[in-house]
Amino acid sequence: MAVITGGNSGIGRGIATHWVRNGGKVVLAARRHDRLLEVERELRDIGGEVGVIVCDVTREEDNQALARFAVEKFGGINLVVPAAGVVRNSLMLRTDRATGMVAERMTLADFQMLLDVNLNGVFLTVRECAEKMIDGGCKGLICLISSVGASGAAGQISYASAKAAISVMPKVITAEFFRRDIGQRIRCVAVAPGAVATPLLEGMGEQAVKSILDQVPIKRLIEPEEVASLIAELYRNEALAGEVFHIHGGLRFGSRG
Ligand code: NAP
Repeated sequence: MAVITGGNSGIGRGIATHWVRNGGKVVLAARRHDRLLEVERELRDIGGEVGVIVCDVTREEDNQALARFAVEKFGGINLVVPAAGVVRNSLMLRTDRATGMVAERMTLADFQMLLDVNLNGVFLTVRECAEKMIDGGCKGLICLISSVGASGAAGQISYASAKAAISVMPKVITAEFFRRDIGQRIRCVAVAPGAVATPLLEGMGEQAVKSILDQVPIKRLIEPEEVASLIAELYRNEALAGEVFHIHGGLRFGSRG
């Protein structure tokens, strides 16, 4: 049974579809109820057992309700994918090209907003679901979603900081679970996608996507289904733990020749 936040769109939706096609049950969480119901219908049409719950991952009580709902509905949790995320590109300090002086500053509220969803939200979802997994004697995987953006691109100080923090979490969680003898039962990993064909990427604008694609040796976006199939393999192969797995079509190794 899988808990997927951000399950009504993009990568989360792709993971849910893959999981259901392979016989799994899912609980999907996000803020927009209508989009949750839409994906629920899609998954039921292909024979899935699905539960949906409105959840703002930045709210502690929403994450508690999500984990409780998943256990009440399906008895236990085996896969947790906190895929809820947002991106807004802007410079920390934007200078005026004519004067060279600072014309605009990123506000603390803007910086904080991305951390709230992409970092604090992940912590809350994982803490709540992992507690239920531990206490319920469940076996399975926590799979975080980092990004190649964790390596740091202009305009992404908040997003990249959050994703860099996510990248270290599998090591921390694996070490903590090892210490308490939980590591053989519950593993933690992360996937770090490059540019994936989802609404999040569309929000970055055509020009930004084009300049990313210029750097991708496979010359196309990654499909959500491809990320989902990597996660299914990470779930299946119990030798994989405590690591970040990149999926980006060769992005950082590409040579223009
Ligand atoms: P997406 O299609 O825009 O989906 C984002 C999801 O997050 C939606 O389901 C949205 O649903 C949910 N969400 C946003 N804020 C939320 C909140 N406060 N509480 C609960 N749910 C919230 O984006 P995506 O591309 O699938 O991204 C999924 C994850 O992959 C993100 O962590 C993103 O950083 C990561 N990623 C994406 C790419 C890419 O190229 N697409 C690359 C690397 C990493 P509601 O709006 O209904 O809440």
